Amino acid sequence: MPLVRLDDLLRHARAHRYAVGAYDAVDAHFIDAILAGAEAAQAPVIISFAESHYAHYDPALLFAAARDAARRAAVPVAIFLDHGASLEAAVAAIRWGANGVMVDASHLPDAENVATTRAVVDMAHALDIPVEGELGYVPGVEGEDAQRHAGALRLTSPEEAKDFVAATGVDFLAVSVGTVHGRLRGAPRLDLERLAAIAEAVSLPLVIHGGTGLLDTQFHALIERGVAKINYYTALADAAAQAAQGELVAGRPWTSALDAARAAIRKEVERTSRVFGAAGRAQAVREACRPWRELEHLILFNWSETASGREAEFEEEGRRALLAVPGVREVDIGEALHENARYRRAWFIRLASPAAEAAYMRDARHLDYADRIFRPHAADRLKIDYIRR
Ligand SMILES: [Zn+2]
Repeated sequence: MPLVRLDDLLRHARAHRYAVGAYDAVDAHFIDAILAGAEAAQAPVIISFAESHYAHYDPALLFAAARDAARRAAVPVAIFLDHGASLEAAVAAIRWGANGVMVDASHLPDAENVATTRAVVDMAHALDIPVEGELGYVPGVEGEDAQRHAGALRLTSPEEAKDFVAATGVDFLAVSVGTVHGRLRGAPRLDLERLAAIAEAVSLPLVIHGGTGLLDTQFHALIERGVAKINYYTALADAAAQAAQGELVAGRPWTSALDAARAAIRKEVERTSRVFGAAGRAQAVREACRPWRELEHLILFNWSETASGREAEFEEEGRRALLAVPGVREVDIGEALHENARYRRAWFIRLASPAAEAAYMRDARHLDYADRIFRPHAADRLKIDYIRR
């Protein structure tokens, strides 16, 4: 099944009262195991990458792996940036393959949170990519996921949520109603009345961070009150660590530890997909949600006499300028293998979506390169835009 649009997926979830698990991946085994767990449950799934985890892996590599794995998955998938701290982080994640992004400026004063979130929304919406914002603050308590979220709990107020959504234009809202990032000591007390009031005040899908450690009945209570996406990581990491440790302590090889970790993650993703009510929904989601489509731009051309001796310089400048445009995922230039080819050069430009192509056509960096260098020095050219199937 294809990648699907995250806005369609979460609207479907909210309308049908279930939640989609958004599982942070930190290596290729996680990607593999998250998809296997979702496939076992026949559940739609969100693979997410948290910016604060980038210190532990090459994000460009893992986003590409997720995109490739999602194409081959038997369930609908979305690829998501979790807790992006800036506009630059959101642009980079979209370049690498995200089709949904979270901007987390919730630790900043409210006015700055609104301004940062608004900037990401303006950029992402031009590419047809939905944005999750956070209002209130979900702190960390203990465990691997906790130290990334220093500070005190601040609950979301329904009135502020309404104003925040209006001021920023976010598509989904992460709320703080008593959960914490990381490992829990005992089940938390959730403010369900507050959640119901928030859901009344804003009609968009709500998101819960800090899902680890909640009781099944608490998940159900959250979902009944408008939660459509649940971020879940610490329990996966703990299950993986425990399984791998068992193998290593017993003196078994590293690959056995990886196999055990993968099996543990898969089992936890399958279990939570059932708890969240997402199990068995894959087919319905596929029918209800628009697939995510990338757009590719192919330009065959010949440099004119006026470019003579400067071709490589022009090509390098073009590559750099075009790659900086939000929504552009790949820029390559190829040279004809055979001397007698009708066209000697080809630009290959991959964009995040058809909307991204429209934004690219208006972008100042693209227009500058096209007007100053490409059109004057490459009059002989042929262009095609096509949607990837
Ligand atoms: Zn989170």
